[in-house]
Amino acid sequence: MRNSLITPVIITSLLSQGCHYEEKEAGRPNILFIMTDDHAMSAISAYDGFLAQVAPTPNIDRIARDGALLENMFCTNSISGPSRASILTGNYSHVHGFYKNEGGGDFDGSQQTFPKLFQKAGYQTVVIGKWHLGTSPTGFDYYKVLYNKEGQGSYFDPVFEESGGGLIEEKGKYSTTVIKEDALNWLKKHRDKKKPFMLMVQFKAPHRPWDPGPGYQNYLAGIEIPHPANFNDNYQGRTAAKDAWMRIDGHLNRKDLKITPPAGLTGGELEKWNSYGNNGEFWTPDSTLSDAERKDWKYQHFIKDYLRCVKAADDAIGEVLDFLDESGLADNTVVVYTSDQGFFLGEHGWFDKRFMYEESFHMPCLIRFPKHIEPGTINNDLLLNIDYAPTLLDAAGIPIPGNIQGKSFLPLLKEKNHSPFRDAVYYHYYEYPFWHHVQPHYGIRTGRYKLIHFYYNIDEWEFYDLVTDPGELHNLYGIQAYDSIIEAMKIRLDNLKKETKMDKTMDELREMTDVQIKGLYKVETPN
Ligand code: CA
Repeated sequence: MRNSLITPVIITSLLSQGCHYEEKEAGRPNILFIMTDDHAMSAISAYDGFLAQVAPTPNIDRIARDGALLENMFCTNSISGPSRASILTGNYSHVHGFYKNEGGGDFDGSQQTFPKLFQKAGYQTVVIGKWHLGTSPTGFDYYKVLYNKEGQGSYFDPVFEESGGGLIEEKGKYSTTVIKEDALNWLKKHRDKKKPFMLMVQFKAPHRPWDPGPGYQNYLAGIEIPHPANFNDNYQGRTAAKDAWMRIDGHLNRKDLKITPPAGLTGGELEKWNSYGNNGEFWTPDSTLSDAERKDWKYQHFIKDYLRCVKAADDAIGEVLDFLDESGLADNTVVVYTSDQGFFLGEHGWFDKRFMYEESFHMPCLIRFPKHIEPGTINNDLLLNIDYAPTLLDAAGIPIPGNIQGKSFLPLLKEKNHSPFRDAVYYHYYEYPFWHHVQPHYGIRTGRYKLIHFYYNIDEWEFYDLVTDPGELHNLYGIQAYDSIIEAMKIRLDNLKKETKMDKTMDELREMTDVQIKGLYKVETPN
């Protein structure tokens, strides 16, 4: 009699615990982290930059319309691998150790990353697309990442490394399409519906060499793309800018400009022919063109191919967002859109990134989190790529370890009248001379001012007032009127170094640049 009474109580209790557990699981948000490669804010129409009218991105914009647009997300080191490692670990380059793409070795995948913390908390973790960290992904239940071209992958016939170590060549396929299809297939067919997921979808586009995919070759044909306001920079007062090899007119090569090579060239000959221009070799499509006309011709060819790659990515992202809507997943999924850094789209007369100047330093950041972030939210706080890891952990209710240097910015998006998040951010770029001959530098940016020190084999400071000179054309360092502001910024910069555990001497920093450690990727032609 006693047993018959007790048993139902135990069963009821177990059932209720089970239900509670499932409800709790169902309540945990999924994470969809979408990243492209080298996508500048000015090429996302939600930011309303100089390309917004001519080349809109309606699908990426949906994320901000339904959530938040972050105006001041910055990179801690504006190149691919180091930024990706900072996003994964929540730490600066000098802490996670992967501080340059060339000769810096590989990412130490044994360290703590946010995907590992999600996995430990019971999430399914997946990464599909560009990885670019040398070592194979760790902390993922499934991965399929670009492998060829030293991990850059190729636009056509991309080769992927899949979990378990197998290589898959996607013959006849376009990289953006494959990555989108793999992401959709995983969401539709392979995920465990009883568990929340953390899915990273990382496109190669729109990275150099900007090869448009099927159906996009004629997009923007016949349209004149406008120039950015600081297109014709003369680099006066800025040695590092003058010495960089990333000019639209001077350093785009024949392959970038899609010039058809002569018949019969193979292997090394073809490579040499294609890379003509990398070192500033003169090339013109027509000897009657003036300097300005030739620069514009090259700009139009480069920017249209870039925007064609963006358009394909935007459409692919639209399909993934549509699936979230149709499947009912959208209501409980945090969607983030970002790029590993910004990019110069003609600003300062350049392509590429690396510099602490605004167009390269800024990263796009759009995030939606239904019921938590009000649609149409705009945020201007100073954020960093190291904040992604803690923010996503925060959104999922997973404790944020104390050794993460970034901070969750989620509370800022929930509360309009919050106190300032940061007064200043620290930046550091180490790689030299390849690929674009950009002097290593570090600096500080506040809401209004920026101070940069180029130190490798020059010793020059630059100072900008971003309110009066948003294009950063006028170096105000040494102008007496700014002396006291600059002195205060130097003191704050020293403190930022201490706060971020940057304790290297100038000689040690130069050694970090000089170090050449061969990475795991097979040596192929960089693109
Ligand atoms: Ca990149």
